[in-house]
Amino acid sequence: METKDVILEIRKKNNLSQDELAERLFVTRQAVSRWENGDTIPNPETLKLISKTFDVSVNTLLGSPRQLICQCCGMPLNDDSISREPDGEFNEEYCKWCYTDGKLVYHSMQELIDFLVPHMSSMNMGEPQDIKAMLEKQLPQLKLWKKAQ
Ligand SMILES: [Zn+2]
Repeated sequence: METKDVILEIRKKNNLSQDELAERLFVTRQAVSRWENGDTIPNPETLKLISKTFDVSVNTLLGSPRQLICQCCGMPLNDDSISREPDGEFNEEYCKWCYTDGKLVYHSMQELIDFLVPHMSSMNMGEPQDIKAMLEKQLPQLKLWKKAQ
């Protein structure tokens, strides 16, 4: 979905007129109308405000140009699993299980692997040794652990 459709959908879902949406975002009605016509997209500050106000990630607002992946555990992210900052803003780097209350939950890759292996094998995702081997190969590609190396 493109930005213009996402914004229109948000507005309809919340039963807002273009005027009302404009008021909540501190922009003019013309600006909202231009977004919905696809003439312009909101500036980065406004995107953040829309994200926070209506609980939609910036990535979704931009038409999901990226498949977000948790940079700690590698899980694909959607608006339900993206973590949040303590003030409610999305943190699109991590899933909500790896990043809570403004802090990363796992402090080393080993700690994460020790948690994930029994968890994933109990969900029938493979033999523990295979899961471990896969994680040891995949996790170092993620930003968080790349940085740590
Ligand atoms: Zn994660």
